[in-house]
Amino acid sequence: MERTRVVVIGAHPDDELLGAGGTLARHVLAGDEVHAIVVADGAGSRYPDQLVATLEKQARQAAEVIGFASLQFLSLPDQRLDTIPLIELTQQLEGVLDEIGPGIVYTHFPEDVNADHRLVARCAWTACRPYGRPQVRKFVVFETPSSTEWAWPMPGTELRPNLFVDVADTLEIKIAAMERYETELRDYPHPRSSRALRERAAYWGSHIGRLAAEPFVVLREVT
Ligand SMILES: [Zn+2]
Repeated sequence: MERTRVVVIGAHPDDELLGAGGTLARHVLAGDEVHAIVVADGAGSRYPDQLVATLEKQARQAAEVIGFASLQFLSLPDQRLDTIPLIELTQQLEGVLDEIGPGIVYTHFPEDVNADHRLVARCAWTACRPYGRPQVRKFVVFETPSSTEWAWPMPGTELRPNLFVDVADTLEIKIAAMERYETELRDYPHPRSSRALRERAAYWGSHIGRLAAEPFVVLREVT
């Protein structure tokens, strides 16, 4: 069977795992080639300069746990993607996507409270427009714990999944990868704690009669 090329586009280090880590580990186990792109990892409001190198190291360790085929950093300014023209961010993503040639793309839910997430989602969607990138047959957005659920309560900002992936067999791989991100993990009950991630997977699993699941919205699929 032909290996599917999969890309996950996250705004910040750990975003490539928080929403879809169990699903991406499943892709890897199925023999798919999974590539990760982290858009912003420069020094921003949350990351003092010295943390950038630490975060990159943690990201590489986490990538090894999941089994990513590659991990690329675009090194754009953290929490300041709104200072970059949309066309430039889109073109940077296009450059990386040209190299990888993915068939499936995962990225952020476009209504997250985090502005970087929203911009990455928007530019990834543009970079994957059908005539520009016809090989993309599935474009999927994920939930990011501590951002998706914190969107303001207006119509259309709630994640209403239309795709659930059973991650009962890969959830612990995701947790082990997340635990490489020592600077990003928080104490329970923060959504970015190991226990809360397990509980969230159980919650979404209960929707569909499984022990653990990750929820997604498929924005476009071509079969
Ligand atoms: Zn983020």
